[in-house]
Amino acid sequence: MRNKAETRTCSACREKAQKSELLRVVRTPEGFVVFDRSRKMNGRGAYLCRKQTCLDKAKKSASIRNSLGCPIPEEVLNELEKEITHAG
Ligand SMILES: [Zn+2]
Repeated sequence: MRNKAETRTCSACREKAQKSELLRVVRTPEGFVVFDRSRKMNGRGAYLCRKQTCLDKAKKSASIRNSLGCPIPEEVLNELEKEITHAG
């Protein structure tokens, strides 16, 4: 494998993508779920494509909840939505 880029699986559509292209949501050791813009925070993480369809799936699907151990709070979903919208 000459490709050094790390890949991660989107928790909504189960497709693999480069880590740098995915959005990361993390549940911190303190129990807060946050949008991890730096992708470097400690905690249980879930990845999502920069796609509205994946965000919509993430709202409904249990897989994100399973990855994080709890649902994504509304304000974090809003942040992700903004990020996706601005990325075009
Ligand atoms: Zn996806």
